[in-house]
Amino acid sequence: MAIKVCKFGGTSMADGTIINAVKNIILSDPERRYIVVSAPGKRYSGDTKVTDLLYACHKTLLEDGVCRRGFEPVRARFISIVRELNVDFDIISILNETEKRINEEKNEDFTASRGEYLCAQVVANVLGAKFIDSENVVFFKANGQLDGEKTYKAVREACSDCALAVLPGFYGQDADGKVKTFSRGGSDISGAIVARAVQASLYENWTDVSGFLACDPRIVDSPKPIKKLSYKELRELSYMGANVLHSDSIFPVRKANIPIRIKNTFRPGDAGTEILPSSRYMPDGSTVTGVAGKKNFTVIFIEKSLMNAEIGFIAKVLGVLARENISVEHIPSGIDTMSLVIASEQLTDFKLQRVIEGIQSEVSPDTIRIIENIALIATVGQGMNSSVGTSARLFNAIAAANINIKMIDQGSSEMNIIVGVKNEDYEKCIKAIYSEFFGA
Ligand code: ASP
Repeated sequence: MAIKVCKFGGTSMADGTIINAVKNIILSDPERRYIVVSAPGKRYSGDTKVTDLLYACHKTLLEDGVCRRGFEPVRARFISIVRELNVDFDIISILNETEKRINEEKNEDFTASRGEYLCAQVVANVLGAKFIDSENVVFFKANGQLDGEKTYKAVREACSDCALAVLPGFYGQDADGKVKTFSRGGSDISGAIVARAVQASLYENWTDVSGFLACDPRIVDSPKPIKKLSYKELRELSYMGANVLHSDSIFPVRKANIPIRIKNTFRPGDAGTEILPSSRYMPDGSTVTGVAGKKNFTVIFIEKSLMNAEIGFIAKVLGVLARENISVEHIPSGIDTMSLVIASEQLTDFKLQRVIEGIQSEVSPDTIRIIENIALIATVGQGMNSSVGTSARLFNAIAAANINIKMIDQGSSEMNIIVGVKNEDYEKCIKAIYSEFFGA
């Protein structure tokens, strides 16, 4: 029988009623065997996610020496969930034990991970499933990266003897044996790891939206849902801000060619978005799949006559950034010019000054100019590389909206064109591109 791994996000765990709906979803399909859960999310706008309560709890632990004050709202939240579920489950003992361990460990990652830990215990009880603690099966190397080999083996072994199991997302064990979390939203990665480990036929990612939309619904009213995406398109779109799925979560499943399906817990009948390995992805004839973007980039523009003839020019410039530990987003270049596009949050005034001085002393450019408040917008579509005139349509649409393009970058994969515009033109530009390709 095929195996499906299902990850349920925080809003799908928010209260007892929703967890009961999740139970029905899981039990309605016997192929849904390995379940990964996030910590309970917001119940209503203005509510606080359990993970955020736990980060605050860690602060009280540092201030008071014990976590009691900060742990209280977490305790109350889980007691209320178990009460709503009306199950015979001794959550109090698990909460007491957890509070004690938070006080002993005094480790922020450990504290933050307890939302997933407690939630998985509750869900395992509700389903009558085995609880597998990710602390014992997900391993990080000393450099902080996932130890894939060790992890896949341990997860596979732990899952092998059970028909239904629940694992907490978001954390594992570091090389020193301590609990370590992924970055925020990391339960998506945990789900993908489990899917890879058990060789699932499908990784279902259950959330509170019916999949990816062709652009941000806060900018365009009811954008079209995306039915199908390739891994590559997903990576581009989620990296550029379409935040349905953690942008790192595809790596484990991509290697194993496992498709992902985004589903909506609150509308389980909706088809959602299917994300397929490129080998199995058949474009549906549309040129552009989606548009996404991010604000707040800084461009360092460098000009020097005969730059193209100077061996090692770019390497020297990039060396300055590497020494400052700054990552570069894009490097559009001409024969005598190059631009470095960098997320502004990486550049404090002081750091920017050091970078400019470093570049000046390394390569003595004729000009260095800093352009701030730039937004990047990616127009993504695997269909682009086989259709003529996409960039003409894109640039015409932007020109017709009277927006000045500050930078253009087209990757050689020909599946995305990135433009840089002023932050203040960001929304207008997204609307113009969307209406050109999707006819809003
Ligand atoms: N609970 C964690 C967070 O809020 C991880 C997750 O939900 O995926 O970031």
